[in-house]
Amino acid sequence: MKILEDRIRRDGVMVSEDILKVDSFLNHQMDVALFAEMGREWARLYAGDRVTKILTIEASGIGMACVAAEQFGCVPVVFAKKSKSRNVTGDMYTAKVESFTHGQVNDIIVSKKYLQPGDRVLIIDDFLANGAALQGLISLVEQAGATLVGAGIAVEKAFQPGGERIRAKGVRVESLAKIKSMGVGSIEFC
Ligand code: 5GP
Repeated sequence: MKILEDRIRRDGVMVSEDILKVDSFLNHQMDVALFAEMGREWARLYAGDRVTKILTIEASGIGMACVAAEQFGCVPVVFAKKSKSRNVTGDMYTAKVESFTHGQVNDIIVSKKYLQPGDRVLIIDDFLANGAALQGLISLVEQAGATLVGAGIAVEKAFQPGGERIRAKGVRVESLAKIKSMGVGSIEFC
């Protein structure tokens, strides 16, 4: 998606050879007009898939998921919470996710009330790197017996293995900007 790629070129900061900082427009300060364009694009890509719910993970995915939900007829947005395992009760679906940026393993949880077998779920997240976050969210959908329509990712770092791993499982992943390679001061999209 050209406007997202252009924005990453203009305002993205490569903090290392594998970490891109986009906190001026995506995951700290948020450009809502850009989110609306992204939501329109995911709605076009998943038109006809009868999405009934959007699932994301706190905190960075929440803003873009809410704006995208408007383009899907204001379907509910559920976000997985990051939790210490001792707080998890039987009312929750849970999965373990290793954080790409911090390295620590978190339990992610969603109340069983908010993911149901009849749901057709689109997962939305800001980044796809090794695929741990997305795999954890997919596991929550599977535990609920809901239908996974696919995933909408803002930025996929295609030089990392997550996208290939998840697509190999038959999951549809639509990434709006796919980075082929990056280094300090240079970025190439697929
Ligand atoms: P994965 O689980 O696919 O390895 O990583 C995805 C998660 O890690 C995303 O939810 C995002 O929060 C974070 N992440 C991965 N790569 C980057 C990056 O280059 N920049 C930022 N800001 N976050 C990232």
